[in-house]
Amino acid sequence: MPDRLPVAILAATGSVGQRFVQLLDNHPWFEVTALTGSDRAVGQDYGQACHWILPEPMPAWARTMKVMPTEPGRLQTPLALSALPADIALEVEPRFAQAGVVVCSNASAYRRAPDVPILLPEVNPDHARLVASQRRQRGWSGAIVTNPNCTSTGVTIALKPLQDSFGLRKVFVVSLQAVSGAGYPGVASLDILDNVIPFINGEEEKVEWETCKMLGVVEGETISQANFIVSAHTNRVAVNDGHTVCLSVQLGQQATLEEVATCLRTYTAPELSCDLPSAPHPVLVLHSEPDRPQPRLDRMTGKGMTTSVGRLRPDPLFDFKMVVLSHNTIRGAAGGSIYNAELLYKMGLIAA
Ligand code: NAP
Repeated sequence: MPDRLPVAILAATGSVGQRFVQLLDNHPWFEVTALTGSDRAVGQDYGQACHWILPEPMPAWARTMKVMPTEPGRLQTPLALSALPADIALEVEPRFAQAGVVVCSNASAYRRAPDVPILLPEVNPDHARLVASQRRQRGWSGAIVTNPNCTSTGVTIALKPLQDSFGLRKVFVVSLQAVSGAGYPGVASLDILDNVIPFINGEEEKVEWETCKMLGVVEGETISQANFIVSAHTNRVAVNDGHTVCLSVQLGQQATLEEVATCLRTYTAPELSCDLPSAPHPVLVLHSEPDRPQPRLDRMTGKGMTTSVGRLRPDPLFDFKMVVLSHNTIRGAAGGSIYNAELLYKMGLIAA
């Protein structure tokens, strides 16, 4: 595959960085030519610097790549997929964008910037238009495009068909989030085993705000937030991968259970995003079994990119309630960033 686009993975040694490496093995459009790490890892072979935690083997090409410092001038790629911690991303990602690199980032650092899209190609590919605003306003030839927090991801994908068909007034979210969402080594085993931790720093605010940004409308150089209320409780549970969310919704107009079910079952991504290599097939699965979705059984649906919904039923408080499951390090992190990069590449926003 000689014509693949060279790509750098920033913070390739962590939980999300490893997912990038694994998902980009034999990618049809992108070829990993640089892996970066912290000062601890720089100069070592990736196989030596990285404590690999995925069940799939580390790709052979990655083992002997030298870990590089996270500096744009050294990497020579037009695209960087970032798994940097937010505080480092805040300082480093603009330097890449300034140097002409398009950064597809998992970090929260720039999600609230008015000219930075939080992109889900199956939901809001039109928000990619903000890249032009960024370039105009900031004088960048590159860009920063983010993907949402891993819990906001499944919530937003499940809400999108309902918003389109019926409108939304109120959304109540209770999450049961996997330990891999906290990175590696993440939560101490003595804290999480036999336990539920009812606090994840900053998470509830992210779910409540990011969802309305992604379901909002591009107006000029910015996004007008969607006009519905989200209330979130977020909890860490002893599951390895896959965030489960219990969701209650009040719709903007009346609908029957069958109408809501049909709307979820038949949702398809906008045409622009359907045939990208990482596009989920299908976008959503609606389970009819009473005890699904479950993280262990359903997180790998559609290679980890499909959002699973189940237990759709009337809600005595609002209109309907359901359970949503999304793979946090694939659809909610690395797979999501790759899908975003594919969309931007197809739109001609990444210089080859
Ligand atoms: P993680 O497992 O803690 O990994 C973070 C990695 O960053 C570590 O490998 C660390 O290397 C590396 N690092 C630190 N400073 C660096 C630098 N200056 N240059 C290059 N690498 C550096 O965390 P994670 O779960 O992968 O999360 C990464 C980012 O994705 C975070 O912003 C997180 O909020 C976001 N995110 C995570 C998830 C998820 O499900 N895990 C979902 C969505 C978004 P050392 O090991 O050498 O310190």
